[in-house]
Amino acid sequence: MSNILVFVETRQGKIRKSSLEAITLAKKIGSKAIALVVDADADKIATELKEYGPDAVYTVKGIKNYSPDAYREALSAAIEKSGAKIVLASQTAMATDFIPAAAAKLNAGMVTDALEVKIDGGKVVTRKPIYAGKVLADYAINSDIAFVTIRPNVYPAESAASSPAVEELAVSIPVPKAEAKETKSASDELDVSEADVIISGGRGVKGPEGFEPLKELATLLGGAVGASRSAVDSEWISHQHQVGQTGKTVSPVLYVACGISGKIQHLAGMSSSKYIIAINKDAEAPIFDIADFGIVGDLFQVLPELTKKVKEVKG
Ligand SMILES: Cc1cc2nc3c(=O)[nH]c(=O)nc-3n(C[C@H](O)[C@H](O)[C@H](O)COP(=O)(O)OP(=O)(O)OC[C@H]3O[C@@H](n4cnc5c(N)ncnc54)[C@H](O)[C@@H]3O)c2cc1C
Repeated sequence: MSNILVFVETRQGKIRKSSLEAITLAKKIGSKAIALVVDADADKIATELKEYGPDAVYTVKGIKNYSPDAYREALSAAIEKSGAKIVLASQTAMATDFIPAAAAKLNAGMVTDALEVKIDGGKVVTRKPIYAGKVLADYAINSDIAFVTIRPNVYPAESAASSPAVEELAVSIPVPKAEAKETKSASDELDVSEADVIISGGRGVKGPEGFEPLKELATLLGGAVGASRSAVDSEWISHQHQVGQTGKTVSPVLYVACGISGKIQHLAGMSSSKYIIAINKDAEAPIFDIADFGIVGDLFQVLPELTKKVKEVKG
């Protein structure tokens, strides 16, 4: 078993939930889980991480704004220092941006968007969807160091108290060719890629106001609102909500598809959801082929009924 280095992503001083999931996975498959935090407030983050059981935390505090060059250098320094043979991160936009560059620099193998990671015969073996989610493929990584990004919400984060040694790394930070001047979430809304419940709307919601009943149910269930590309392209809802091949990949416990036909590009982003409920007035809509529960009907009649029932159950 090898030491595993986990890149812990922070946004505006907050740890992303999916990075905690990566630490939990590292603890299950590695001998030591070492977290890397790149943040001016890294000491505070390191204290918060104690609840999730890393064996050590490396901090890099000198990088003011996100840049792929600087983060790649921080990761490379942490790999060298830790001697880790496995590097894990959550499959986020940031990780997708800079981690492949760190892998390429070391001529190392990398698997993105993994649904399963295990050690088999001394090798890192991963399972991931290919062909827009139609096929699950197993990949063994043969290089000396293996890089893997994991789909959020697949391995639940588990708390495990620890007293990790915290060490600041000295990193020679390159002058970035490009850097983020400001990183601001479009809103404080829960991100679909981290939500356990998603109520998602497609062309069937008919307009921006058609998302209101979806928002009500999502709020009631502590979830997020998702959307098909048709709804986003029609400018009924912003792109950060889009699920699918050119949007976000999600794995919630519950995905409710309202007025979404179920085209392959949409399914590519949500077919690994644990339970799928489809509401569609066309009984032949392909979304019903992958749904666990299907309701043939008008979403504007079905959703208020569903919301009423949820309110009754919740008291
Ligand atoms: C390269 C590429 C990338 C793409 N990436 C994405 C992506 O990331 N995400 C994505 O979603 N799509 C993506 N698409 C588009 C995709 O092919 C579909 O066009 C899109 O998903 C369809 O969206 P929809 O299901 O909302 O609309 P439609 O296919 O028009 O379906 C609307 C559905 O709503 C139902 N409906 C209508 N009124 C009601 C009502 N009152 N109550 C209940 N049901 C109702 C209809 O029966 C129908 O099934 C991509 C396409 C390409 C070519």
